[in-house]
Amino acid sequence: MVILTDADGVLEDLTQAWVELINEKYGTSVRYENVRDWDMCKSFPELTREQVYGTELDDELYDRMGPMEGAPECIKRLIDNGHEVYVVTNTPYQVINAKVEKVIFRYFPYLTWKNIIVTSNKKLIKGDVLIDDGIHNLIGGEYKKILFTAPYNEDFDAAGNGMTRVSDWKDIEKVFEEMGAF
Ligand SMILES: [Mg+2]
Repeated sequence: MVILTDADGVLEDLTQAWVELINEKYGTSVRYENVRDWDMCKSFPELTREQVYGTELDDELYDRMGPMEGAPECIKRLIDNGHEVYVVTNTPYQVINAKVEKVIFRYFPYLTWKNIIVTSNKKLIKGDVLIDDGIHNLIGGEYKKILFTAPYNEDFDAAGNGMTRVSDWKDIEKVFEEMGAF
């Protein structure tokens, strides 16, 4: 299979690290669990868009991020079983190097730049499966849709929209087992 996986909020915890860094920089006290909207600005109404999204471009953020539990092992297992894995990400160009070199390659050392696809439109990418926490990346795609649960997509009816909702990488491993991937 060709397996596509998002990076932020799926392979690594960018969203959580981002919320923490904004809180530290601007003295806010927003909790990750309370980020209910895809647009991070909605969770920080007292800050400007530049303050919120400017923090996403701060190199420091990429030293703080960690892997999602179980992700490195599951991706390795898929590759060892002969599947092709591509990280499909809509990362701003200013920080693509930091994210890939400092985070992805650090925790997923068996991946190289050949496994990275940067795009603002994931639906144009061909693959058998996409794992993503962004509903808009799954709707309309021709791949099997796995929605990685996050506070900002919790209220969405995944099953009713042809998606499989997963809470963690243990769940993802089960989905791949059911698909006969291993
Ligand atoms: Mg994401």
